[in-house]
Amino acid sequence: MTAKVLDGKALAKQMRHSIKQQVQNRIAQGIRPPGLAVILLGGNPASEIYVRHKRNACAEVGMISKSFSLPEHTSQEDLLTQLDQLNEDKDIDGILVQLPLPAHIDSELVIERIVPHKDVDGFHPYNAGRLSLNLPLLRPCTSKGMMTLLAHTGISLVGLDAVMIGQSNIVGRPMALELSAAHATVTLCHIHTRHLADKIRCADIVVSAVGKAHLISGDWIKPGAIVIDAGMNKLANGHLVGDVDFAEALKKASWITPVPGGVGPMTVASLLENTLQAAQL
Ligand code: NAD
Repeated sequence: MTAKVLDGKALAKQMRHSIKQQVQNRIAQGIRPPGLAVILLGGNPASEIYVRHKRNACAEVGMISKSFSLPEHTSQEDLLTQLDQLNEDKDIDGILVQLPLPAHIDSELVIERIVPHKDVDGFHPYNAGRLSLNLPLLRPCTSKGMMTLLAHTGISLVGLDAVMIGQSNIVGRPMALELSAAHATVTLCHIHTRHLADKIRCADIVVSAVGKAHLISGDWIKPGAIVIDAGMNKLANGHLVGDVDFAEALKKASWITPVPGGVGPMTVASLLENTLQAAQL
């Protein structure tokens, strides 16, 4: 069997096209375009790339993006004051603080300072709580994007066995909740999980968000399983790969996401969806 490739790049392009039309409809009705504020502290090269992608995507769909590139040594008080101003700003619907933050900043405090209806990352305890109660409002972008990819397969998730590897608050945990809300039976694995290979061998859906190249061997994949790989790992030769051995898993899975071009573009497209949703709220 050769898996079908879940092309996140192409699907994200379709999503941006649809979002652009919705933004144009708003403008035609005399409503201002949605506005997204992106705050970046310091010069983390990976974060700078992510922020650039988000800003470009906003421009492409006709949204307003305001970027705040603050120095690494910005005090927590100054950052909170900036957030207070954006919370009050009538032209801003979504606020995103690019993570990770420098060590002297309390990330939880910062996330909680964003008013929940502008929390387009879906990380505020209010939005995280709503997701855990199966009353989602603004959903974390990476897991939302992965659910859109799963929906694209046309396969019902009801009753399927899903294994989520990685339990961070930004990817693994929300994805386990999303899969559970879709009535899959979910096993949430992490660094202390025993017999990971055995669990993956039984899974109809394998989702990985760990950040370790070659963690998941192709021969662990159950024939016909769906494989979603959020992992992003840069090899010594500069190549970007996921957590799953793609070439081997391709021979076993029914559907599989590539890295790059799978989950990454869907995260950005989901952020645009959330910004539009926040503007409509
Ligand atoms: P994290 O470091 O916060 O969490 C990693 C998780 O993996 C932890 O729960 C840990 O327990 C688990 N883990 C570590 N080693 C393991 C092992 N050997 N076996 C099983 N579990 C193990 O990372 P994160 O922020 O959730 O990101 C994970 C990966 O996803 C990274 O590669 C990151 O770059 C990528 N990511 C991609 C996107 C995207 O849009 N494509 C978005 C966010 C994160």
